[in-house]
Amino acid sequence: MVDALTSYESFSQSCVETRLDFFPMGNIMSSVATAAHDLDWESVLQTEGIEYVERGPNVARNHINIHCPWCGISDPSHHLGISLDGKGWGCWRDRTHRGRSPKRLLYKLLGSRAERYLPREEPEALLQSSGLGSRFTLTPTESEDFIDSAQWDRGFKFTHRLTRSDDTFLQYLVETRLLSADTVIRKGLRVAQYGPMSWRVFCPIHWEHKLVGWTARSIGNASPRYLVGPGRIDTLNVIREPFLDSPVILLEGYFDALRLWECSIGKEFGIIVTHGTALSQIKTSQLKKLSQTHPLIFALDDDAQHIAMEYSLAFDGWAVPPPRGRKDLGEATTGEIRSWIQQL
Ligand SMILES: [Zn+2]
Repeated sequence: MVDALTSYESFSQSCVETRLDFFPMGNIMSSVATAAHDLDWESVLQTEGIEYVERGPNVARNHINIHCPWCGISDPSHHLGISLDGKGWGCWRDRTHRGRSPKRLLYKLLGSRAERYLPREEPEALLQSSGLGSRFTLTPTESEDFIDSAQWDRGFKFTHRLTRSDDTFLQYLVETRLLSADTVIRKGLRVAQYGPMSWRVFCPIHWEHKLVGWTARSIGNASPRYLVGPGRIDTLNVIREPFLDSPVILLEGYFDALRLWECSIGKEFGIIVTHGTALSQIKTSQLKKLSQTHPLIFALDDDAQHIAMEYSLAFDGWAVPPPRGRKDLGEATTGEIRSWIQQL
């Protein structure tokens, strides 16, 4: 039993190390550690009248245990251990009931009441203040592709930065996505050849000069096509920052945006990915803010032109369809994209 807990601790520790290693988001990650450490679980549980035990056969040193909220009534006693050192929490009965984020457990236990116990420095709070939402604000359609953070961390461990020798990935990106090898290598995409997220390309998500998350696109037929990482916050994704009051072009898909990026090097317009056509509250407020300083050009897919029109009305921008006969900008030729840019 002690072994199981040790391995869950070292597992979550290894996740943290992995994340710190791969995610250049020092401020956010260090505040995760602080937040996890600072939460006074005993007083939260007492205040909320949630039964917990400090000793017993299931309780490890520096832990308190509660009924596992994921196991529910099938947990006959107190199988979920919570580390008082901020090392996370885990269930003896089911290895998937574990994690490091205090927020996740708090939400499971308390629902939206969890908010009152979360320190201001929670990464989600930080992101909220910078105009970003938390994973809990994801709309149902978007959260379908959201996977358990432990699984995500494990998967991310098997990634490496795309190189010229990653033939299979380059073949997909160059032949299917019409991107140049230079572009994808320069953009720092990561890929996984092994592990739970094998044969996926990891696309970084940036907002306000920070890496805030990843999505992982299958290069084969795996379902779902996109998996969304724990850091992925329901946000717009900046591919190129706009200058002063220069226009911002909004596209639905990450790879289409990369295609526009590589065809427009030296241009001053910004490029932002919306990741789909549905706008959450967060994305909406980001767009509102952007529209105050930049003209917005909605370059959505051909089948979403009615939505592009709506958005152009709502945000005082323009809807510009893809080149004639093309589903989206991503499948247009370099020449077509260049003349598409010319007409703006
Ligand atoms: Zn459980």
